[in-house]
Amino acid sequence: MALIVHKYGGTSMGSTERIKNVAKRVAKWHDAGYQIVVVPSAMSGETNRLIALATEIMPQPDPRELDMIASTGEQVSVGLLAMALLALGKQAVSYTGWQVAIKTDSAFTKARIQSIDDEKVRRDLDAGKIVIVAGFQGVDPNGNIATLGRGGSDTSAVAMAAALKASECLIFTDVDGVYTTDPRVVSDARRMKTVTFEEMLELASLGSKVLQSRSVEFAGNYHVPTRVLSSLTDPMLDLETEANSGTLISFEEDTNMEHAVISGIAFTRNEAKITVLGVPDKPGIAYQILGPISAANIEVDMIIQNQSVEGKTDFTFTVSRGDYVKAMDVLTQHKDELGGASVHGDAKVSKVSVVGVGMRSHVGVASQMFRTLSQESINIQMISTSEIKISVLIDEKYMELAVRALHKTFELDSE
Ligand code: ADP
Ligand code: ASP
Ligand code: MG
Repeated sequence: MALIVHKYGGTSMGSTERIKNVAKRVAKWHDAGYQIVVVPSAMSGETNRLIALATEIMPQPDPRELDMIASTGEQVSVGLLAMALLALGKQAVSYTGWQVAIKTDSAFTKARIQSIDDEKVRRDLDAGKIVIVAGFQGVDPNGNIATLGRGGSDTSAVAMAAALKASECLIFTDVDGVYTTDPRVVSDARRMKTVTFEEMLELASLGSKVLQSRSVEFAGNYHVPTRVLSSLTDPMLDLETEANSGTLISFEEDTNMEHAVISGIAFTRNEAKITVLGVPDKPGIAYQILGPISAANIEVDMIIQNQSVEGKTDFTFTVSRGDYVKAMDVLTQHKDELGGASVHGDAKVSKVSVVGVGMRSHVGVASQMFRTLSQESINIQMISTSEIKISVLIDEKYMELAVRALHKTFELDSE
């Protein structure tokens, strides 16, 4: 019997009415003969509410205790969904991450899944039960609850699908698939029927919130067929139609296919830029600046170092906005080692990226991107590229303008 994992996000679980609809949809798949594991998120807004409560008590919350609090939203969801299924006459059972157990490392608030014990889940499935597993959470080697980072239920679902060798992982959400860019920012954005794994990984890691990037990594590493589709359709929609809707992440590169040069645009508002001016240009300086940053567990994204003038250079890098204050503090503490350099920061910057495997065989994408931004008088502060993406850092006030202009330039609104 085919096993399928369903994941339902916050909006999809947003009210008891919506949860009843999720139960109807899940029951429909179970009635059609599938074994089903469901991974729900907390009800929409709930994780934010819990984190806000924590910060009222402790402005920089202790990470272990924060996870203890933030993980509870999903515990409510699994229980409610199990009840909704029981009320429909289905056999269902809910588990927290630690009950399963989903084992993680101890990096609280951004833990990584290390392994999953699937024995209990398999036993329930074989007994005909629908199994509901809390997303976003796991248990570390010392028995502490650890969460997987915001949007982490996607990763819980794909990891469950990988562990159980499910035939598919269906990510039900509040949009009907993966679009050329966030449809809430560009109304002309177009849904893609398929997206290559590589493009999806870039889009997700460059900010497209529709999938957490680690879930895409899991899908790739374990070849889990993964589809993003809407949870807001009629729950009794014909199963065949539903099974073919949305966007499928494809692993096969169709070499005969003529790829669009750019397939999508991602953006993140969540950036901050730090510049160290007038550092002595000598071996080891990058390490002197970034060593303490990395020791403080802060991830660095873009980096540039200028040409040196009279033995001094400028060094600029970006971190996520949540780490900005901490990063500035770290550099201020190490100022003496930086030979009198001055540290400047700007937490009002955004990153916009164009992504496409077609870039490999086309030249001129960068110049087309830069021309478009220049026509809109948007100043580019930093640039980074890889084989299939170009990212620019710009003032956050121009982010939406940039995304719309680029979407048009690269003709993403047309088939
Ligand atoms: P869920 O609660 O179901 O996990 P999320 O809010 O995390 O849902 O992700 C879905 C949202 O992702 C959509 O509502 C949409 O605004 C946003 N989004 C960003 N980029 C894209 C994209 N390229 N395609 C579709 N949705 C996107
Ligand atoms: N509830 C968690 C969050 O809001 C996990 C998720 O929704 O995927 O980030
Ligand atoms: Mg999400």
